[in-house]
Amino acid sequence: MKQSPFDIAKELFYRYAEPLALDKRYPGQSLMERLTQPDRSVEFRLTLQLDNGGTLVSRGYRVQFNDDRGPYKGGIRFHPVVDLEEVKALAFWMYLKTAVVDIPFGGAKGGIAVDYQKLTVAEKERLTKKYTTILGDEIGPEKDIPAPDVNTGEREMAWIMDVWRMIHGRYERGVVTGKPVTIGGSQGRKSATGRGVVFCIEEAARDLKMDLFGATAAVQGFGNVGSHTAQFLHQMGVRVVAVSDVYGAVRNLGGLDIPALMAHVAEEGRVGGFKGGEPFSRDDLFYEPVDILVPAALENAITAAIADRIRARLIAEGANGPTTPEAIDLLSKKGVVVIPDILCNAGGVTVSYFEWVQNRQEFYWTAERVDEELRAVMTRAYREVADEAMRNRCSLREAAYRLAIARVADAAYRRGAQ
Ligand code: GLU
Repeated sequence: MKQSPFDIAKELFYRYAEPLALDKRYPGQSLMERLTQPDRSVEFRLTLQLDNGGTLVSRGYRVQFNDDRGPYKGGIRFHPVVDLEEVKALAFWMYLKTAVVDIPFGGAKGGIAVDYQKLTVAEKERLTKKYTTILGDEIGPEKDIPAPDVNTGEREMAWIMDVWRMIHGRYERGVVTGKPVTIGGSQGRKSATGRGVVFCIEEAARDLKMDLFGATAAVQGFGNVGSHTAQFLHQMGVRVVAVSDVYGAVRNLGGLDIPALMAHVAEEGRVGGFKGGEPFSRDDLFYEPVDILVPAALENAITAAIADRIRARLIAEGANGPTTPEAIDLLSKKGVVVIPDILCNAGGVTVSYFEWVQNRQEFYWTAERVDEELRAVMTRAYREVADEAMRNRCSLREAAYRLAIARVADAAYRRGAQ
């Protein structure tokens, strides 16, 4: 039977939490149960009036998984395959992610099961605002702070802030992060996840003694994370030779001109048709003989069958949960170094934290300062994970889980169960 994303998330947690013996260390605290069940899940019907007078019925979700280390935090995804099990898994990974980079948040995630891209802008606004109205009191700057995820961005965050102001009668910019800069967003938030991925790649390359200048990379997914990762790699002199999206893939062994590709995608909405490369099957992207592979799309993209044929030395997980547990084992047997999602893609939520701090102070940082602070957080987190991996002779993923679980377990224990 196919495992749900939440089953996979729990399997990984149990696997990596086991050596920490939480039951021995914190007797009678039931920490394994406490840390593998969401604090609260909401699921609701959303009825949207379409421009043509028709009606669309969809389902909305918000899962607040854990707030032991701080307010719930995590994005909102609008995608046809969204369901409660997926949102739970993503919320689970969020609280581990905020713990790995050690920012004072818990973890949450939300979404709507909808083919969002097919809606008109007016329908999108109505749907986003209705979702926010239904959630109402569930979100707030000191309670649960949404952010962008798949198919959501600055526009949606501005709509959410607007509804929250209407409901509560006051301006609170910190109710969401990833807003447009003109209404309290942070410099560098949009590109932050990609930036963080590349900071991690730089650290890993140093450990692997891989010269990034002239190294090759393939990027699966050309949304916000994939495109910015490709852009920063390209700027550093890495040859990005293959890129894919939901519709297809392009390849150029001499290296794709990423700024030109980004301009093409802004016009056409897809990588296909780009003149600076040859089209090829998106399923073949993972098998390119590159140094670095970046999965930056959805969960479970790398299965065992795919992992078997991967030729990259380094995988940087830009997406959440892109590798199945069997594929994780296979890649580790093959000696492929994997920078795990909960570390690798934490740059987004880190700059979300900076945005929230700036909103609370109403004092705004320069792009240079955001970049510098992000680099500091990501490299410190990477080094802590790499040291933990060295000490325990384990993978970066296991080390990241160990650090995160230990931090959250300590917080949960100190707060008590009364
Ligand atoms: N959706 C992003 C993630 O999966 C960002 C979350 C946030 O900024 O709160 O990490």
